[in-house]
Amino acid sequence: MGELEGRVAFITGANSGIGKATALLFAREGAKVGLVGRRAAKNEETAEEIRQIGGEALVLTADVSQPEQVEAAYRRLIETWGRLDIVFANAGINGVWAPIEEITPEEWDQTQAINAKGTFLTVKYAIPYMKERGGSIVITSSINGTRQFSLAGATAYSCSKAAQVAFAKHAAVELARWKIRVNVICPGWIRTNIPENTWRRNIEKIAIPTIRPEGGIPLTGKKPGEPEQVAEAVLFLASDRASHITGTELWIDGAESLLRT
Ligand code: NAP
Repeated sequence: MGELEGRVAFITGANSGIGKATALLFAREGAKVGLVGRRAAKNEETAEEIRQIGGEALVLTADVSQPEQVEAAYRRLIETWGRLDIVFANAGINGVWAPIEEITPEEWDQTQAINAKGTFLTVKYAIPYMKERGGSIVITSSINGTRQFSLAGATAYSCSKAAQVAFAKHAAVELARWKIRVNVICPGWIRTNIPENTWRRNIEKIAIPTIRPEGGIPLTGKKPGEPEQVAEAVLFLASDRASHITGTELWIDGAESLLRT
């Protein structure tokens, strides 16, 4: 019997990296998983992998920055499976990293629209379906914007990640009356496809040399964390084992963010 037997999960950013590893783990643990991402073909690939391991998956192609698409994705999930227990608001981009005076207002808005507003929309449209039974919401923030502020040019990204933590704490207090828990994970460097969603411009103009101990990440040296290691923490927060945990951050970074950088 899996840890999430009988549960239904809505996972954004489910076709790659942390979201995909979590979707696969949740499915192995017995959850039915709704897969949200913009690329239909990538969503379908992930769904197929889940079916191959005997899991149940539903492709919900949507852009989390678009309210009507998020709302429609939830409607489809409920029409199919009739309940919602877990939300993993994980979709995100690094966006444009550049000196503040060179970041355009449009670039700033795009990062906030996907990372911050996307989180708001993903939670907002889940609430009507979670009120009856309660459930667990997990949001993916980052070490950037919460413990680390030295990544040159990543101002828009860090602000979007800080906003997610403030949002989660408000939501934890507000939604507790319905037994809906809300927690945040803050990963460090994890091996995913996020470099494909990172556009660096002129950051050499503002970079401050950072001095790290030889090796980089205290726990792993030069190796990043794996998405599967993050997924294990999401499983814990989503499960009944975390039944008294809400409104808190969990850093998953091998102590990377504790270095003086
Ligand atoms: P990834 O491999 O690039 O995956 C990102 C996922 O988000 C993809 O499935 C992508 O699918 C989806 N996505 C992006 N924009 C979207 C949108 N507008 N609507 C719906 N889906 C969208 O990156 P990842 O590292 O797993 O990132 C997941 C989360 O972890 C992000 O919030 C990121 O900020 C956070 N994080 C990552 C690291 C790291 O080192 N990797 C560290 C700290 C925090 P489509 O392109 O098909 O939409």
